[in-house]
Amino acid sequence: MIKDKKCFIDEGRFYKGNTHTHTKNSDGQATYDDRIRDYIANGYDFLVLADHEYYSIYTEYNSDTFLFVPGMEFECGSKPEESALGYHTTCFAYPNKNTIPEGRIVWPEGTTIDDQMKYVLGSNNYCIAAHPYWLGMRYDTLIDQFKRGCIGMEIFNSICHFGWSTGFSEGYLDYAIMKGYYPLIFAADDYHGPAFSDVKDHFTGYIKVKAKELTYDSIIDSILKGSFFASYAGPDIHNFEIKDGTVIVDCDPCFMVGLRSPQTFGGKVMSFKNDVTHAEFKLGGHEKCVRVVVDDGKGHMSWSQILTVENV
Ligand SMILES: [Zn+2]
Ligand SMILES: [Zn+2]
Repeated sequence: MIKDKKCFIDEGRFYKGNTHTHTKNSDGQATYDDRIRDYIANGYDFLVLADHEYYSIYTEYNSDTFLFVPGMEFECGSKPEESALGYHTTCFAYPNKNTIPEGRIVWPEGTTIDDQMKYVLGSNNYCIAAHPYWLGMRYDTLIDQFKRGCIGMEIFNSICHFGWSTGFSEGYLDYAIMKGYYPLIFAADDYHGPAFSDVKDHFTGYIKVKAKELTYDSIIDSILKGSFFASYAGPDIHNFEIKDGTVIVDCDPCFMVGLRSPQTFGGKVMSFKNDVTHAEFKLGGHEKCVRVVVDDGKGHMSWSQILTVENV
């Protein structure tokens, strides 16, 4: 018998957030104040400012309808055979557990990615491997990041997509899964441009987290549990579960719900009327894990987390 599993927790609702964007504290073009207010004005419930080597803790922006999550992006060079542009990693934390001081971080000469990860993880932060495709990272080098303690990866990054056409890193994910790693799947804006801009290269990469309430405990706990989906402006996923040996998906109207189960043929439910809102896939029991991609047929999509298939 296949064990029942749900991607999303039962209670609560979905909260929209972005785990990766920049301000003038590093190479972004907006002040942190404008950037935060811009995300709030565009319907975001929570935000991580992932400035390069600059740790942000702007909890004074918290309200009943917005949560500022502390974090940063840190960089490290690599050997050319590991990654063309080195390592970029974002992180976030509970404000009362993080021990990195607010402000700029200067890494001592000779600091390695191992040293950085040890420091950031030791400061009670959670790490996400950013935009591996844009970096020109080797697939196995990304896996080294999971071995070092990254809990997730960006399957989509808006600025890499709009700027370099290297926004989609799905191949990296499937390679990692085939190697037995099941990272959390994030999509992020990585927006650097001016605030309140009408150029649509941002507010497109985000996650929607199903949580009991908009508090650090609820939001971060739900992220760590995988109670969220990643999206490139795609259809919302309302439910993704394994029940009685069948994968069940409920979503906004879409062109296709695709089942991904590495080293199997997977599956699909599609309609040229773009009206698929429900899909079911019977499992054989031999699958190691499943995830789904919900595609609007116009280039936008959402990605579920991974559910492992357990026979009990
Ligand atoms: Zn980066
Ligand atoms: Zn970035």
